Amino acid sequence: MEPGRLLQCPYDQSHRVRAARFPYHLVKCQRSHEQLARSLATCPYNARHKVPRAELRSHAASCADNRQPQLFRELSPGAPAEPPADAAATAAPPCHEDWEADAAEAAPPFVLDFGAAEQLPAGPSSPPPPPAAGSAAGPR
Ligand SMILES: [Zn+2]
Ligand SMILES: [Zn+2]
Repeated sequence: MEPGRLLQCPYDQSHRVRAARFPYHLVKCQRSHEQLARSLATCPYNARHKVPRAELRSHAASCADNRQPQLFRELSPGAPAEPPADAAATAAPPCHEDWEADAAEAAPPFVLDFGAAEQLPAGPSSPPPPPAAGSAAGPR
């Protein structure tokens, strides 16, 4: 960035300040525009960018100095933390020997119920055992 470049002062449209002097001008001009300065937020990518707080997000998304889109996300509070890489490593790969147990569990249970229902009538209708005859009156 060339130090002789003229930059637009965010506090006064009529202020054109050389880049080298810009930080000093901002501090100085900020004092005479305290009301405006309080309503402005500093761009996370370029401290010289002063934008209305409501427009900070949209400015950051389209900021010319925004070369790291994820930077703004990290700066914003409440951003979800990245899950630890260990989670994927600790998850064991599926064992190839488990397929038999899985197949048994996957078998439809109604097959077993059907077999039990088939056997139910056999219980009550089974004939009583014949009396043991001849043991008491045996030939002597
Ligand atoms: Zn100014
Ligand atoms: Zn910016």
